[in-house]
Amino acid sequence: MRLMKIVYILIFTSSLLAHESGFENIKIRIENVNKNIWCVFGAGGNIGISVGEDGILMIDDQFAPLAEKIQSALENKFHKKIKYIINTHWHGDHTGGNEAFSKIAPIIAQQNVKTRLQNIQKRGSRVFPKRPKEAWPTISYQKHLELEFNNEEVVLTHLPNGHTDGDSIVYFSKSKVLHMGDHFFTKRFPFIDIHTGGSVSGYLKNLSFVLKNFSKETKLIPGHGILSSMSDLEKYYQMILNTNKMVQDKKRAKKSLELIIKEGLGDKFKSYAWGFISEKKWIEVLFVDKKD
Ligand SMILES: [Zn+2]
Repeated sequence: MRLMKIVYILIFTSSLLAHESGFENIKIRIENVNKNIWCVFGAGGNIGISVGEDGILMIDDQFAPLAEKIQSALENKFHKKIKYIINTHWHGDHTGGNEAFSKIAPIIAQQNVKTRLQNIQKRGSRVFPKRPKEAWPTISYQKHLELEFNNEEVVLTHLPNGHTDGDSIVYFSKSKVLHMGDHFFTKRFPFIDIHTGGSVSGYLKNLSFVLKNFSKETKLIPGHGILSSMSDLEKYYQMILNTNKMVQDKKRAKKSLELIIKEGLGDKFKSYAWGFISEKKWIEVLFVDKKD
């Protein structure tokens, strides 16, 4: 648990840290999701991969210092080359390896990811420098993109203004696996980046879209956390809906942010707090987020 906490701090404190030590002890673990779709766990956002006769398609690439380790883990296990990289959104724990992987494969992302990586990003007092050209997606799309890879359609759909403004979910149509990016933090409060186009209302709308449009049998790769089911996603959606309602009701009753934090969300939601998003932080996001 302590190690996980350190990892979370590393993941989210600074992109500069990504270039410092702390990653040498990270182990790369590869778990099958369904058929030829696998999940790669290391540090940062979960990587989803499709492996087959066309090679490897990889969704997200964690941190720069892990790129070599990830690439050799995949090549040693599967003896295939990486052919495509997809970025689910711009955050450094999902795009940190872009500079390294762009040498071997094109990077695909929604067009707002490209704009964010090309420009300085700010989150309160935190500043994220622009990324070099090598980290930019070379193929970008607006709403919807389909690729034919390893004998199935790989479908990218833009989920607007949820976690950020450039999030993609990626669906493997025959394997029935969906990579959710950071629209799913299994069993945890989500991080919603309201400084780069994310919003609670958009996040809820996007989750409801997924719950309505994908079958109950779909297997889910969350951006963070263990492999999950659609019923796990439904529980997560309800948790966000309920905690949001609680905070909005209190806000309407003219309670201050400080008081709402003091009162808390109750025991039912205690277990959702984690290293990066404490109950206090989650309440703050729900409180300040603009409503549609
Ligand atoms: Zn993220």
